[in-house]
Amino acid sequence: MIKIHDENTITLQSLKPDCSQCSGLCCTALFFSEMDGFPENKQAGKPCFNLHKNFRCKIHGELEKRKMKGCIGYDCFGAGQQVTQTIYSGQTWQNTPGLAKEIYDVYIAVFQLYQIRYFLLEVMSINPAKMLRNNIKPLIEENEIICNSKPQDILKFHIENYRKKANVFLRQVCSLLPKNLCCLNKKCPSDFLGRNFKNKDFSGLDLSTKLLIAADFNNCVFNGTIFLGADTRDADFSNADLSDAVFITQGQINSAKGNRNTKLPQYLDYPFTWR
Ligand code: SF4
Repeated sequence: MIKIHDENTITLQSLKPDCSQCSGLCCTALFFSEMDGFPENKQAGKPCFNLHKNFRCKIHGELEKRKMKGCIGYDCFGAGQQVTQTIYSGQTWQNTPGLAKEIYDVYIAVFQLYQIRYFLLEVMSINPAKMLRNNIKPLIEENEIICNSKPQDILKFHIENYRKKANVFLRQVCSLLPKNLCCLNKKCPSDFLGRNFKNKDFSGLDLSTKLLIAADFNNCVFNGTIFLGADTRDADFSNADLSDAVFITQGQINSAKGNRNTKLPQYLDYPFTWR
């Protein structure tokens, strides 16, 4: 096993959206397009026409039937409820329109910080990367402090500098994986788009930022495989073993296909579209 299951796994489990505690921020603050599987071409800061006044999606039960893959795939890591409940104490873009622009900007900043925190917490649970823990802990603490600060302090925070510091450690993870799981004896295919890889063993490969769109990974194994920023839209992971995959997110899982036989990391959930 690449990963140990300890308090960091539990914390990863807590970085999940709770839409009942949010004010529909992802459906309002962000720009999106029909081409990416959203219902309309929408400017940032305008509520989606399907967003009800109570911040619920009017077509939530039909997202799959209507092929709203963008909506199904999106995951805020819990930034929405943090901004709505903790940072703004229940003030929303709806009941305090004068603050709307600021709330959207804070949401986008906190979303990015939560995403980075998610990866840093995962490094803390990767056994071969344990020598990085003392460097990563202060970065996680800094992240937690900023995400609990006043809006003005969050907006002043230099996220790109913070991201660069975090990326240094994320990049080190691949080189720290055990030799038998590293990329030494396996060549990474140059093209994945729509290709058939059924029953293959991808253990130890670095698939960071790869376009895996519509690839068939049925019954494949991904022990220690790195998925950082990979595009998994419509990739089929039915019957595959992703339980020890590294840097795979709920958003990537939601965007992909799979079934109840797919093995997922402990802290990720089966999308409602997987049967
Ligand atoms: S369709 Fe529903 S989930 Fe998708 S953006 Fe609109 S309100 Fe949000």
